[in-house]
Order: sequence, then C-alpha cells, then structure tokens
Amino acid sequence: MQIYNTLSETKVGIDGDNEFRMFVCGPTVQDNVHLGHAKTYLSFDLLARWLLKRGRKVFFLINITDIDDKIFDRAKKENLPYMDIADKFYNAFLQDLEALNIDTVSRYARVSKYVEESASLVKELLDSGKAYSLNGNVYFDTSRAQDFGKLSHQNAFDLKFKQIDAAPGKRNSVDFLLWRSVPDATEGIWKTPVGTGRPGWHIQDSAIAFEEMQGPYNLHGGATELIFPHHEAELAQDEAISNVVPFVKIWMHTGLLLKGQEKMSKSLGNVVTIKEALKTHTSDEIRFHFLKHHYRDELEYSPGSLAASKQAFSIIKDASRAIPKSELIGKLPQRNEEAIEKIRMEFESRMDDDLDTPAAVSLLLQLSEKILKKNESEERIEMGLAFWDFAETLGFKLF
Ligand SMILES: [Zn+2]
Repeated sequence: MQIYNTLSETKVGIDGDNEFRMFVCGPTVQDNVHLGHAKTYLSFDLLARWLLKRGRKVFFLINITDIDDKIFDRAKKENLPYMDIADKFYNAFLQDLEALNIDTVSRYARVSKYVEESASLVKELLDSGKAYSLNGNVYFDTSRAQDFGKLSHQNAFDLKFKQIDAAPGKRNSVDFLLWRSVPDATEGIWKTPVGTGRPGWHIQDSAIAFEEMQGPYNLHGGATELIFPHHEAELAQDEAISNVVPFVKIWMHTGLLLKGQEKMSKSLGNVVTIKEALKTHTSDEIRFHFLKHHYRDELEYSPGSLAASKQAFSIIKDASRAIPKSELIGKLPQRNEEAIEKIRMEFESRMDDDLDTPAAVSLLLQLSEKILKKNESEERIEMGLAFWDFAETLGFKLF
C-alpha cells in the first residue's frame, strides 16, 4: 500500500509486518468539534481500518490539547476551573467520534499528563545548545535544526519573511516557543526545572511521541493547516532530540473543509458542529459524504452537498435491506464469480493507492445497483458478501 508523504511529496510504500504506529493531532478541547474535524478523523480512521483489514497491527494515538490559552480564556469568562472546560469538551469529542463510528483509536493522550516530559525535553534542548532562554521563555533555535523548513518545502529565503511566536530578541524569526513562563496565573501552571509555566504547543506532541511511540514511528498526521508551523516545529524537535532522521517516516495531511472561501474554523465563527450535523444526517451519510471525496482534497461544505450525499447513500441503504447481513451468516466468498472478483480486486487496488475512497465508494454503489437489479440471480450471495465486506471496511454501520 502507498500513502502520499508531505515530506517527500511522493507516494511511498507502507507495507511491513511490524505494528504500524500512527500519531494524529487531536483537537484543542475548548468547544464542540465541527465537520472539519470529522473530515480529518474519518480519513485516519479509514487508514487504520484498511491496515487492520489487511492484517496489520495498528497503534493509533490521538493527542488532546488541554493546555491552551483559549481554554484558559473560556474558563475565566465562565468562572470555572479550566480543567472543567477541558474535561467537558474532551468527553464531548469522544462522544462525537463514537457517533461517527470512529473506533480504531488505540489511545487518547491528554497533553496535561505529559508536562514533566515536555519540560525534560526542553531542558535537553537547552543543555545541547539547540534552545535558548529569553525573558523567562525558552525558544528553539531553528538555525541549529537540520534543514528547518523541509516539511513545508520552504528555504531560508522563504522563512525570512515568516514569523513564529514573535518576540523582540529572538535569534531567528521562525524560532518557536518551547516553554512559556506565566508568572501571574493562578492555575494551569507547572513548576519544573525549566521554570514555572506551561509547555509550548509543539513540544507537547514531541513529549507524547517520545513517551508513547517507543522510538521512531511510521506516521504523523493532521489537516494541512498543521504543516507549518506546527508539524515543521515538531519534526525539528524530534530530530534534534533523537538525532534520528527521519524520526517520523510519513507525514500525512488531509485537505481542509471550506465554508465559502474560508476554512471552517472556530476562530472564524463559521462552524457546523458534528452534533448539529447529526440532527439531520445519520453518521453513515456524513461518512459517505467525506469518503466520496479524496482525503487530500479540499472540500467545500454546503447544506445542499450533504443533502445530495444523503440521497446517493439511500441506494446503499436499500441494497443492505435487499440482502441483509443475517442472510449471509456462515457463508464464505467462493470468489468464483468473475465479475464480482474483478470488483473485489479493483476495490483493493484503489484502497491501496493512497486510500482512493471516491473509487471505492463508487464500486460499493455499483454493487448496490447490481443487488437491487438482479435480486434473484445466482450471484446474489457473492454480491452480498462483497457488499457487506466493502461497507464494513469503509466503516458504515447500516442500521
Ligand atoms: Zn499536534
């Protein structure tokens, strides 16, 4: 199987016998998650499903950002302890993933549980001269990284015009924050050997990776908006600390969900939450809508496009009723019907090619139409078995 790697800008093979270890950036738990998040996590769920289907062991980790100014601000506004806000929206996130049948995640790692590890990585970077202190904060010195900019494909000239974590006195404009001192906060601060404060956003992911992934790992992912600076910074930290290049073999990114010309995002105030969408659409219809498009493509949201998917999905639903799973109990595919065997092979090769779900979904639709047309044919059982196989591999619940 091949997956497109943002780092090499090519599709690369990911087959192997060892456990496939993947780390996907989770949400900041400041509010309910939206359909843009659904697009991202459904894509990675599908990757895990396909690998599991092919017999690979998979360790799939999602981190949860529960240390962030946006959570502290909301807590202050609502006059609540910040962990109450974080807990509330963490639980809401888990409910949303469950509702969407995203059940391949092995572990959720909350960053607040990895502050000690974050601080010790910051200390390591300070000790090796790859980080420096400035007014109580600590910054990563990007001039000490190997090819900083290589993930987002920016050279030194491009980076000159970029600014990360602006502060007077930084050595390079793209040096990013590793540790923030927060002298006047009453909660959400940690006393550590590098100071009293909070870890920066990027180092939290590296801390979790070093703790949970047991060394270099297969894949790190998220939406394309995370490539720079978040993943670029993370890659630089991972390699500066481990001296292993590459520490992460594949960087996989999903295209954004747009609303109009802009990305759907909390900060732009244009979100449709998963909970709202589930009031008018089933989780299968939402899944179908996203799988109809390739995970790397940007997709524009509109109520009309979701309604069209609902309509198209009804064919699959009808087929599932025409040949219910209960009718197939104890039956195994004989693979002697040439036409269906061809569809099966096509399905496998499309999924193997960077998760070509538009093609996979259209094969499921073809099969559905066949089932609805030739209800009494001899191929019926073979078609039914292939239909349920595809539908479950793609994560549809169909009830
Ligand atoms: Zn992250």
